[in-house]
Amino acid sequence: MMDKRAAEFLYACSSPAFERKSLERRHSRSTMCIRQSKYAGAVQNDQYDTSKMKHKDEEDRRSYVLLDYHACPEYLKDNEYIHSHYRAGLTFRQALTSLFRWHNETLNIWTHLVGFMLFLILTMSAVLEEGNMEMIARNTSDGELSLNISKHCLMGSILRDADKTVQQVTTRRVTRWPFFVFMCGSMFCLLASTLCHLFTCHSHAIASLLLRVDYAGIAVMIVTSFFPPVFYVFQCEPAWAWLYLTAISTMGAATLGVILAPALQNGIYRSLRALLFMALGLSGFIPAIHGILRNRGETVMPVTVGLELGMAGCYILGTCIYMVRVPERWKPGCFDLGGHSHNIFHVMVLGGAIFHYRAATLFLEWRETKGCM
Ligand SMILES: [Zn+2]
Repeated sequence: MMDKRAAEFLYACSSPAFERKSLERRHSRSTMCIRQSKYAGAVQNDQYDTSKMKHKDEEDRRSYVLLDYHACPEYLKDNEYIHSHYRAGLTFRQALTSLFRWHNETLNIWTHLVGFMLFLILTMSAVLEEGNMEMIARNTSDGELSLNISKHCLMGSILRDADKTVQQVTTRRVTRWPFFVFMCGSMFCLLASTLCHLFTCHSHAIASLLLRVDYAGIAVMIVTSFFPPVFYVFQCEPAWAWLYLTAISTMGAATLGVILAPALQNGIYRSLRALLFMALGLSGFIPAIHGILRNRGETVMPVTVGLELGMAGCYILGTCIYMVRVPERWKPGCFDLGGHSHNIFHVMVLGGAIFHYRAATLFLEWRETKGCM
């Protein structure tokens, strides 16, 4: 015989409400189990991913061994006076992270990367200024800035003069494209050089491709440097401007054709390549002398000539240092991590580009003020 409490319990267990609760309990238990197992899986996965990443980092670090000159592959043996800290056979990821580690290319990379960023900022500020001036010109021509002030008022006459000056300046603005051609050429050269020094350690195929891009960058920078001075100095005699610009562009293409020839890719032709680039740059003396003779009385000329001589001095001195490989020639192995000829050459190239940038802005401002009489 069942007592009353046992009967009530059996009744409650058989009721739909009990079954539902029991099901819910089981469901929540199983959900919790699934959640726990998922969490455990996620934790395991996370641990797996983290350990995989750590392992990869360790692998990168372990495999990132800097080599001595004699242990290097032949294609990286460019300067026998630099004895150690060579990178070779790195993956792209390793090469990219090597940007933040010391080796014999660290300063070569950073000198031109900083230069590229500087020229990028200068170009962007010039583009913004150009946009603002165009807006002023548009507003002025629409009459939005015209000053509606009494003719008898002194302040009104001053403001009318200012308005007239703004209108003269905005209508006389000379084209900026030669200036932007130079800025783009400089940025291309500095970026190509940065990428070349960063990734040549990957493989021979990548190194020979990037070296060609680097040479192309140098030729482009030399040719585009001619555009602002030649264009603005001879703007009122466009036949001369186009003659000189066509001549230097053709010579640049020919120089590049010679330099990129497969027969000249060997390291022993480094001096010949440097001399060809120097000759291309020195060909600028012809339009320079012509321009100086035509504008003898102009006050801008002594300043710009001084700046252009500063640029030429930087390039010539930098190229000579690059060719003779000093100071590392005097103390082999002592300048492996910094201060060697290629570092100095890069700083000189950047210095020359900054001198030329200043000269280009002065030529532009001068032509804008002077116009074509
Ligand atoms: Zn370089």
